[in-house]
Amino acid sequence: IVAAVALSCGTQAEGQVKPKDAEVQRFVAKLLSEMSSEEKIGQLEQAAGQYTSKAQADELTRKGQIGSFLFLTDPERINELQRIAVTQSPHHIPLLFGYDVIHGFRTINPIPLALASSWDPALVESVQAMAAREASAAGVNWAFSPMVDIARDPRWGRIMESAGEDPYLGEQMAAAQVRGFQGAYVGAPHHVLASVKHLGGYGAAPGGRDYESVDLSDELLHNVYLRPYRAAIDAGAATVMSAYMDLNGVPASGNRWLLHDLLRDEWGFKGFVVSDWDAVKSLTVHGYTANASDAALRAFDAGVNMEMTSALYRAQLPALLSAGRIDRTKLDEAVRPILEMKYRLGLFTDPYVSLDRYKTETLSIAQREGARHAAEQSAILLRNEGGILPLSKSTKTIALIGPLADSKVDTLGSWSLHATPADTVTLAEGLKAKLPNTTILTTKGVEIQRGNASIFDEQAPEPKPTLLTDDARNAEFAHAIDLVKQADVAILVLGEAQNMNGERASRANLTLPGKQQQLLEAAVATGKPIVLVLMTGRPLDITWASEHVPAILNLWYPGTEGGNAAANLLFGDAAPSGKLTVSWPRSVGQLPLFYSANLTQIPESPDTRYWDESSAPLYPFGFGLSYTRFTLDNLQIDKSTLHPGEALKARVTVKNQGAVAGDEVVQLYTHQRAGSNSRPVRELKAFAKIHLAAGETRSVDLMLPASALTYWSSATKTFTLEPGAFDLWVGDSSTASLHKDFAVAP
Ligand code: BGC
Repeated sequence: IVAAVALSCGTQAEGQVKPKDAEVQRFVAKLLSEMSSEEKIGQLEQAAGQYTSKAQADELTRKGQIGSFLFLTDPERINELQRIAVTQSPHHIPLLFGYDVIHGFRTINPIPLALASSWDPALVESVQAMAAREASAAGVNWAFSPMVDIARDPRWGRIMESAGEDPYLGEQMAAAQVRGFQGAYVGAPHHVLASVKHLGGYGAAPGGRDYESVDLSDELLHNVYLRPYRAAIDAGAATVMSAYMDLNGVPASGNRWLLHDLLRDEWGFKGFVVSDWDAVKSLTVHGYTANASDAALRAFDAGVNMEMTSALYRAQLPALLSAGRIDRTKLDEAVRPILEMKYRLGLFTDPYVSLDRYKTETLSIAQREGARHAAEQSAILLRNEGGILPLSKSTKTIALIGPLADSKVDTLGSWSLHATPADTVTLAEGLKAKLPNTTILTTKGVEIQRGNASIFDEQAPEPKPTLLTDDARNAEFAHAIDLVKQADVAILVLGEAQNMNGERASRANLTLPGKQQQLLEAAVATGKPIVLVLMTGRPLDITWASEHVPAILNLWYPGTEGGNAAANLLFGDAAPSGKLTVSWPRSVGQLPLFYSANLTQIPESPDTRYWDESSAPLYPFGFGLSYTRFTLDNLQIDKSTLHPGEALKARVTVKNQGAVAGDEVVQLYTHQRAGSNSRPVRELKAFAKIHLAAGETRSVDLMLPASALTYWSSATKTFTLEPGAFDLWVGDSSTASLHKDFAVAP
C-alpha cells in the first residue's frame, strides 16, 4: 500500500510541502482499512530506546508492534530502525522518535524559565526552531516540549522548565514555542512535532512536591492553569502529554474530562495524546484502577492515544478488543492521528536523515551564536548599586569564586541530556577569553552536592566533591577569601548544581546550598566590591544579598555559551534586559507567591498577614534592571469606554535617560473592579520589549482587546465579559503606577 519506499539516504522531509487535509485523511483511511488490530495497537506503543535492546527494538519494529521510540538519538541507528520499519514491517509504517528537547539538543540554550524572562516571544520561537533544527538533524522528529505548566512555587523543581507564574505570559511563550518547534505547519522542513505537557495543572503541586495530587477549582483551572495549553493547541500543537498526578481526584492520564471533553470537544484538538512515562501503569499505583487491564482500558477510554513505556496497551488491548470492551472504531480513532502526523511529517515518503546535515548543523557557529544571544537576553539584573556593573575591561585582577564559576555541567542546567559538557563555555573560560590581560584568580571556595542521586545523574554524571576532609574544606574556603582580598573586584558565581532542580528535584528550602551563604558573607566582609552572579533553576533566598551585595546578576542556567554571554553582560558588551516571570520571594514561608493574587494590593497589615514577614516579594514579577535608566510617562488611552469586539490602545512615552542603549519591557495590567466573581488585583494583558538608543524617546502602543478581559466565572460557569469599571496600569513591572480608568460597555 505504501509507494515504493526510498532506500536512499536523502534528507528527511526536505522540501516537504504542506499536504492537503483530504489527502492525509485518504491515505490514513486506506492504511487503517488494511492494518491488523495487532499493528494498530502497535502504533499506540512508545518504548524507551535506552532500555530496549537492539534485538528487541529491531523485532518490535519488524513486526509492526511499535509506533515510536523515545531517547534514541544516534542518526545512524534511527535510519537503521526506519529502514526496518518501512521495508520489513507489515505495512511499512515509519517510526516517531521522541526526545526531551527542552532547551536545546546538543547546543544548549538557557532554561525555559530564562527564555521566558526575555519577554520576547519571537526570540523564544527562534531558539526553539534552532533546537528543532538540531534535533531533527539527528532523526528526532518529536520534542516533548514545551512544558506550559504554570508554576507559582519555586520549591517545585520543575519551575525551571516553565515560563513562570502568569497565564498571559504563559500563553505567549507556549504559542511561540509550538511555532518554533513545528514551524509554519506540521512537516515543515527541519522542524519536529511539539508535545505540550503535562496536561494539566501539574505545576500546582502542593508545597512544590513533585507528582503530588492537585486540587484546583474550575475558576483557577480555566483562568490560570489551562490557558497556556489552550494557546498551544490554538497554535497547532500536534501532540499533548498527559500528566502523572491526580487532578481533582482523577489521575490526569485517566481523566476523560481533561483529555477528551475539554481537549477535543471544547478546544478542537486534532492531534494525539501521549501519556507521561509509565503513567498508564501508574493508574493502578494511584489506587484508581484495579489492575493492568483496567488501567489500559481506562487510559484508552480517557483519551490517551499512545502510552509511553508501560506497554500495557500491547499486553491488554487485544483481550479487551476480543471481549468487546473496546470497539474497533475507537481503536481506529486512537491510531488515526498518529498515522496522520507521520504522514504530515513526510515520513512515508522519506524517513531518513542525512548524516552530513547532522555533522554540519550540530553545534554549528549559528547554533552557538543563537544560544549566546538568548543567554544575554534572558539574564536579569536584580541589583546594581552605584552602577558597579558593567565592570571595566581594564580591571587588573578579578577573583572569580564559587562552585559554579567553572562547572560545565552546571552552566548547562537540568534537562541537557544530549549535551556534552565539554562543549560548554564556563564563566571562567568566558572571562579569560574576553580579558586576556586581566589576572583572573579562580577557585570554588565551597562545594555543593545534592544529598541523594537525581534521575539525571546517569545521563550527566556530576563531578563528585573532591574536598573530603574538614581541613581541606576550611583551607579552600580561606583560599577563596584570600583571592578576594588580592583582587580589585570579586565575582561570586553561586546557586544550585544542575541536578538540584528539574524533575524530582523539589526543595523544602530556598537557601543557597552548602556553605555558599557563608562564603558570600565572608567575601563581602573583605570590603572589596562584590558582584553576585546566580546560576539557578528557581528563585533562591537572596534576601541578605539584596541588602549587602552591590550587584546581583541572575543568569538562571545560561547553556552552552553561558560563559561568553556572562562575560559580555558583566563587561558591557551586552546589556541585561530580562525581567522576572516569577515573583521572587523574600522567604520560603511566603510560598506560593504571585502578583495576581486577590489580596496583594491591600495595604500591608500584620494582623491579616504574617506578623514576622512582609507579604511583598523581594523582587516583583516583571522586574529587572538595565545598564541605563528608563522613564515611562504620559499614559494615554484612546477610549474610556470599550465595547465588546473592540480594542483599546494605550500609549506611553518611554525615554532612555542614560548614556548607553538598552531594552525595556513595557507592561500593561488591568483590574476589574466588580463582577460576578472577585477578580485578581492585577493581571498582565499586554507587553512590548523595545530597544532604545542612549537618550532616545519613543511612544509605545499596547493594544487591549475587549476579549482579553473575558474570564471564567464560577457564578455563571461560563466565560464572560462583564460590563463595568476597570483600572489600567502601564509600567516596567507588576508594580506599574501610571494609571487610567476605563469601562467596558454592556
Ligand atoms: C517527564 C516528562 C518527560 C518524560 C520523558 C517524564 O518523567 O515528566 O516531562 O517528557 O519523562 O523523558
